[in-house]
Amino acid sequence: MPELPEVEITTRRLDAALHGAAVESALATGLNVMKTFEPPLESLEGSAVASVKRIGKMPVVGFSGEVSLLIHLMSAGRLQVFEKPGSPRDRSSRLLVRLDDGRELRLREFGTRQRAWAKLLPSGAVRDDEMVATLGPEAWPAPPLPRLAELINQPRHLHPLLRDQRAIAGIGRSWVDEILWEAKLSPFKRGSELAPSEAEALRRGLHVLGDAIDHYEEVIGETVPDKLPMPLKVHRRAGEDCPRCGATIQAIHFKDYVMCYCPEEQTGGRVLKDRRLSRLLK
Ligand SMILES: [Zn+2]
Repeated sequence: MPELPEVEITTRRLDAALHGAAVESALATGLNVMKTFEPPLESLEGSAVASVKRIGKMPVVGFSGEVSLLIHLMSAGRLQVFEKPGSPRDRSSRLLVRLDDGRELRLREFGTRQRAWAKLLPSGAVRDDEMVATLGPEAWPAPPLPRLAELINQPRHLHPLLRDQRAIAGIGRSWVDEILWEAKLSPFKRGSELAPSEAEALRRGLHVLGDAIDHYEEVIGETVPDKLPMPLKVHRRAGEDCPRCGATIQAIHFKDYVMCYCPEEQTGGRVLKDRRLSRLLK
């Protein structure tokens, strides 16, 4: 779930909290959480946190000694700093970086699946990592219009296209609904079918990501909570009134996500088939 705005506020807060903190020890508690073995995680001992940044949806914790932890939170990971070390029995923990002031930077993952991962890399090699090198440009600040138009000029539906990190980085299942609603575009419109004015509307729609970061800056204190107060207008609001035109927000349920849209403004008044509903009615 954490997308560009959520990871951005997380890394900003962690950067402020951890800058200069010395590492006492580092330990991977999750199965297969570390995708690299050289340099070993133990080599972080005695180094200090130099920076916490973000690339796309991935936090990057830089340490003195020019090594960086590249982290992929997947759908249920959280990177947080705690005042005290956690219990060894905490089944959500995946990676622990103990600091010599008693605090702990902890990668946790909710749910039963262990999918979040980390790589410890020489800092200069982060850009060349396959997960980073294959990313499209950042979705916020929005790429210039000609660049965006070029990126989305693909015969794919906008909903999966905008979530494809190789096309554009940072957007996931929540913010894609908001961006398309802002732009008044159908999630099923193909990228290659956009008129120039629609591509422009899409680019303007990306400002919801920046607005969300501004919102988080205002409402989130030093510590980022497990559940962020996401300023969503249509995503997960099926059945509610569209805040712009008053039509009923509709949803289409997929296996592990929900797509929400305003039929009045995005699909020419058409309510698209909800596969889940049509299965139930068979
Ligand atoms: Zn509407």
